[in-house]
Amino acid sequence: MIFNFYKNLRIMNVLFIEDDTIETMKLQRTLKQANLNHQITEKKNGEEALIFLRSGAKLPDIILLDLNMPKMNGIEFLRILKEDEVLKYLPTIILTTSKNHSDLLECYKIGIAGYVIKPLKYQEYEAKLITLFNYWNINELVKP
Ligand SMILES: [Mg+2]
Repeated sequence: MIFNFYKNLRIMNVLFIEDDTIETMKLQRTLKQANLNHQITEKKNGEEALIFLRSGAKLPDIILLDLNMPKMNGIEFLRILKEDEVLKYLPTIILTTSKNHSDLLECYKIGIAGYVIKPLKYQEYEAKLITLFNYWNINELVKP
């Protein structure tokens, strides 16, 4: 299978910004089932994510960003990220259930690397997420 061909190419550090713990479990389960060893760092909202990104910790290769979150939502986080001289280069992919077209336009305007709508069916979710990870695995990554 072509999915398996890419699986050991590179392990990515992924910052997953999402307030719902069930979503984190779903993502971890998907990676495990697909035998993908990407490292997930989970943050509950934009505020927590910014503290992490500015802590001096190793920066992630990609960011997966939810839109609806308490404290600081995805769009607010994205605006701050894109104004930061170092962090603005991090490829950020929106992962949301929101089909709101104005959200989508606003995110592309600010600057995102993708906008993925989460399917409700687990198998479809799994297929989309594996495709996403494999796509990023063939991309050149920024190492600020
Ligand atoms: Mg949410």
